Amino acid sequence: MNLLILSRATEAVRPCAYGDTEIAHCNKLLNLIEPHLKRCGAACVRTPAGLSPAACAHFSNLQYMMHSAKHPGAQVFHYACHTQDQNSAAFQAVASGWGAYIFGSENRESPGGRRMAEILWEHQKQLYPHFFMVLPTDAYVELRKTRAPAVIEQIIFHDNPLDALWLHKHLPEIAENKARALCEISGVEWVAPGEKAKTWYTVQVGTYQSFACARAAEKELADAGFAGNIVKKRLTKKP
Ligand SMILES: [Zn+2]
Repeated sequence: MNLLILSRATEAVRPCAYGDTEIAHCNKLLNLIEPHLKRCGAACVRTPAGLSPAACAHFSNLQYMMHSAKHPGAQVFHYACHTQDQNSAAFQAVASGWGAYIFGSENRESPGGRRMAEILWEHQKQLYPHFFMVLPTDAYVELRKTRAPAVIEQIIFHDNPLDALWLHKHLPEIAENKARALCEISGVEWVAPGEKAKTWYTVQVGTYQSFACARAAEKELADAGFAGNIVKKRLTKKP
């Protein structure tokens, strides 16, 4: 089972045009995202409140080690939920758009981080079809030091009053949108609220090297009242 690490916004308090802060509205979103992930059966863990970005990376790496030891072969993904600001009076109130930072430089980037960013944008653009940018960078300790593929998502510009208003008026929709993306990232099937995931079992009766033998076995089953189907695979070893 794969693990999602949900990292809180940890920057110094940055005011949001709606009246709260980046930390506050990102936490509200994570509070809404987590129940969706749990309903879908996606394993997730949230960074404790008040950690610095370096401490978030350290927390993530401990989770990575523990999860990998317990579930060999499982993957871990680090998702940091943020919003951004233009930090310039000249641009204030006009900047709008979505962004994601992944680890890398001009010539090299984290493929896992790129995949996470693309899945997040594929979902976000259904709600918010504005400017977008994925930026590989080595400037952030949370991307540099985490062992898991990582992304810092910047959902909106919180110093743009229109962006901030949009976020605050659509928290449940945005949370569901993020949860869908995170399920896809983690390889977990999305289960809509109110819908129950079903468990299915498939019975396999045999493996044959000739189609005629497979067909004969299928016919024998059909005669006995069991529907079957033949799957063809080219492999070097018997599965
Ligand atoms: Zn806000």
